[in-house]
Amino acid sequence: MSEMQPVPMQTPALAVRFQDFGLSAEILHALTDQGYVHPTPIQAEAIPIILQGNDVMGAAQTGTGKTAGFALPIIQKLLAKASHSASPARHPVRALILTPTRELADQVADNVKAYSRYTPLRSTVVFGGMDMAPQTAALRAGVEIVIATPGRLLDHVQQKTLNLSQTEIFVMDEADRMLDMGFLPDLQRIINLLPKQRQNLMFSATFSTEIKKLANSFLDDPITIEVALSNATADNVTQIVYKMDEEAKRDAVAYIIRERGLKQVIVFSNTKIGASRLSRHLEVEGIKASAIHGDKSQAERMAALDAFKRGEIEVLVATDVAARGLDIAELPCVINFDLPYNAEDYVHRIGRTGRAGASGDAISLFTDKDARLLVDIEKMIKHKFVPAQLIGFVVQSGSSGGDRRRRSEDCEPRVSPAQNRAPSHGRSAYGPTSRKEKIDPWFLKPYEPAVPVPSNLDTNEIAVKSSTAKPQKKAALLGGTPKR
Ligand code: AMP
Repeated sequence: MSEMQPVPMQTPALAVRFQDFGLSAEILHALTDQGYVHPTPIQAEAIPIILQGNDVMGAAQTGTGKTAGFALPIIQKLLAKASHSASPARHPVRALILTPTRELADQVADNVKAYSRYTPLRSTVVFGGMDMAPQTAALRAGVEIVIATPGRLLDHVQQKTLNLSQTEIFVMDEADRMLDMGFLPDLQRIINLLPKQRQNLMFSATFSTEIKKLANSFLDDPITIEVALSNATADNVTQIVYKMDEEAKRDAVAYIIRERGLKQVIVFSNTKIGASRLSRHLEVEGIKASAIHGDKSQAERMAALDAFKRGEIEVLVATDVAARGLDIAELPCVINFDLPYNAEDYVHRIGRTGRAGASGDAISLFTDKDARLLVDIEKMIKHKFVPAQLIGFVVQSGSSGGDRRRRSEDCEPRVSPAQNRAPSHGRSAYGPTSRKEKIDPWFLKPYEPAVPVPSNLDTNEIAVKSSTAKPQKKAALLGGTPKR
């Protein structure tokens, strides 16, 4: 079994306390509400550096507590100019936080709201796929901290509902993903709208040459903060890989979830259809699952996420773009139903578990044809996997080969290629294996995006849903697209 030994690098910096940073009583009160006692290592490093006014380049993975690492000193700095006046003019935008996806924007905004709740500072979030009117109303009323995705931010600038000329602090969160999603032109436009004199904070889980170039272009003599090796995986995550045939993977996911008694797990699929089908398969197996991907409306994705957080859904099956930035504390396990095409996504995916000091498991399924993807991941995380055996797993879907183990007493006869093409369902790894099941017609239908275009989508998003949409427009589903 290939299990990397956990190294407790992400545990809180115990010697330091939040009081040691000179944070205001209002902020400390909010932190007590959150139940935070000690800063995490990135917080311990970032907070004093940001308070001193330095530019920062943070090599911070998801789950390290980086959001509070930048949000707390920003709130502290802005408190000096905070006003109790109702006048919008007394609440200009002083801090702008850009994120690549709507979900991340929403989560960062929730954090900022929680940390600033006892202060007179106002914050709001703007992202695409939502009605602009409430966002406009919030901006017009005056807000010091704006959290935004690039496309919708530029929409507001264009409509003159947002003025960035008094921005003192600019944060670019998950910068690597911003570039992946084609936001560079938007970023350049936004940077041009900001005052020259400002503090810049950039966070990225991975540091490619492009990211370094971007950092050089807008950071001023930055201090680099690195609490864990860049391009390395969270150190408190145990990683396991299982090799099997493609046809066995859906049953294997159900088996792993049941065998481990998982009640909160994210399963990553490379494709939207794969996510939908896996979610359907799990539901048929009696596991409460929901898929989130780019064809789901923002409202549906939020509803699924909320249900997941409340424990009403046990399994969230997600594509990379949909899962980006999801903040679910102490997720015990993530499963890679597919190995990601991009090795960096592996780092992001497994960052969903082992967050802020908690330990977690990252389980990946891979097939012969994924061998190259596994090598890419091994190179990136500098670790060689030894595929493990999924002990006790009984193949239900009928293909041969792989490392699956058959129980001799309940082996099924091999199924025909025709049965192979139509995935089986309804045969639990725990139920009787010999009875004949009808194939759910759902699996035989061609894939169709499930969601009609909601009337409140902006025009960019409608463009994405048309057959002529270019691939990079995918970004619109997550918060906006370049306007050119
Ligand atoms: P982040 O990396 O900012 O997405 O944070 C990951 C998770 O850690 C979130 O659920 C935070 O609420 C939580 N968190 C952040 N800072 C602390 C802290 N000092 N102590 C405990 N949990 C924290």
